[in-house]
Amino acid sequence: MRDLAAELARLRTEHLYRSRAVVDGPQGAEITVNGARYLSFCSNDYLGLANHPRVVAALREGADKYGAGSGASHLVTGHQRAHHVLEEALAAFTGRPRALLFSSGYLANLGTVAALAGRGELLWEDRLNHASLLDAGLLSGARLHRYPHSDTSALRQRLMQNTGRHAMIITDGVFSMDGDLAPIPQLADIAQRQDAWLMVDDAHGLGVLGAGGRGTLEHFGLDDTAVPVLIGTLGKAFGTFGAFVAGSADLIEYLIQHARPYVYTTALPPALAHATLASLRILQEEGWRREHLQNLITRFRHGAEQLGMQLLPSPTPIQPLLVGSSERALALSAALRQHGIYVSAIRPPTVPKGTARLRITLSAAHSETHVDRLLTALDTVS
Ligand SMILES: *Cc1c(COP(=O)(O)O)cnc(C)c1O
Repeated sequence: MRDLAAELARLRTEHLYRSRAVVDGPQGAEITVNGARYLSFCSNDYLGLANHPRVVAALREGADKYGAGSGASHLVTGHQRAHHVLEEALAAFTGRPRALLFSSGYLANLGTVAALAGRGELLWEDRLNHASLLDAGLLSGARLHRYPHSDTSALRQRLMQNTGRHAMIITDGVFSMDGDLAPIPQLADIAQRQDAWLMVDDAHGLGVLGAGGRGTLEHFGLDDTAVPVLIGTLGKAFGTFGAFVAGSADLIEYLIQHARPYVYTTALPPALAHATLASLRILQEEGWRREHLQNLITRFRHGAEQLGMQLLPSPTPIQPLLVGSSERALALSAALRQHGIYVSAIRPPTVPKGTARLRITLSAAHSETHVDRLLTALDTVS
């Protein structure tokens, strides 16, 4: 048996121990943590929809209509009207023939990758892909290669040395801990030339990027020929919970037959699907949320540069400040809390060793004054 106490002690000495803060009340620009009020810069609620009155009302209405739980998996009797309508709306939103709901992004990735790749086949993943994509690659049994971050020439070379096998390239659309965009046009070109599939997990791009909020692919003007497999999550900009895969009718039907994390799990509570339909409408109707968010991003970056801070090349609401050591990241996060500001320290193994950071995220729920308060506090503590 493992010595659990020794392992926990090691994590503490290495400043890698993780613990949970207890939050009371909804997400928003301000949150209550362990009884104190903070200005928050760490949620993924990029559009401020997690506590939007219309979304909350739809959740209630959904509960009245469908009850609390779905009671079964989709293939038994769990596939309710609300799920079906949401899938059709998500397909239309992403401009694809079909979409399939999953209970979370983690499960969507496990299910999709393991259904589409297996023994004897090749997977190419960006080194900074989200953990769920890397776990999915391992679970699939395919041979998993990780290429250097966004290095399309390295990927092209390696793919050319490995022709003749079914291959799939997998990338985050927006990298979750860095905020930069994947070079998707180049990846699509490589995939097409090498007859490989391209799958994009746009967890942090959907709702945020593109004039219509259709994400990284809208930003680059790419369609489902270039990127046949698109993953979206609903717990971030949509403000609710769950995830989906969008693509061809054959892709969706294939996943319904083969994606085990789809088949063998209880369907999402239908009330959540009903609420997500409301947040999808708001996300489409209220373009000002994206514009306001972009203004805040510009304001933050400009302010941080004036203060001499090192920013990563991120055009998204994810604006990390690289710190280096886990110890220093924790200390800065604690110092910011002293100023009433909540920003989480992200440490290995979530990010590579030596690249611990403060992962600042902006939201349409913030005001310009909030961003200015953050900048002042950062200047004071650093
Ligand atoms: C958050 C995230 C996921 C997981 O989605 P959940 O719905 O939270 O399980 C998957 N991929 C990426 C890139 C993410 O950032």
